[in-house]
Amino acid sequence: MALFDKLGEMAKTVSEKANDSLETNKLISDINLTKGNIQVYQRELGEFYWAKFAVGEQLEEEAMLICDKIVAAQDKIRGLEAQIDQIKAESEARKAEREAEKAERKAAEKAAEAEQAAEKAGIEKDPVPVCAECGAVLTEGQKFCGSCGKPVA
Ligand SMILES: [Zn+2]
Repeated sequence: MALFDKLGEMAKTVSEKANDSLETNKLISDINLTKGNIQVYQRELGEFYWAKFAVGEQLEEEAMLICDKIVAAQDKIRGLEAQIDQIKAESEARKAEREAEKAERKAAEKAAEAEQAAEKAGIEKDPVPVCAECGAVLTEGQKFCGSCGKPVA
């Protein structure tokens, strides 16, 4: 009988401990939520004063100093953003330059190919007889150039 009582007592203690732990966790979670709310309210307070500063209202010296720090930080952000823009612009310029060079190389290759093809075609074709004097095309059996009248060699 004493053993059952003891076991019962132990079970009760375990369940009490679990309940206490659950309750404590709920409270801690509520504390953390409320701490988060405080940060939101503090930010709202800051924005309230910032809005006054932004329209040129005179604030207490300490508040003015904090607002000046915000202004300096905003300036810094603009400077950093300008640096990013410059890097982007330079990168785009380099890219355009590379593409222009590529197009130039391609055009040169094509011209070379066309030249080679023309040379090949010229070699393969029978040479057309022309007048040695004026370059006019001659027909077979012609004794004098039809254009300049010089005798055909
Ligand atoms: Zn001729």
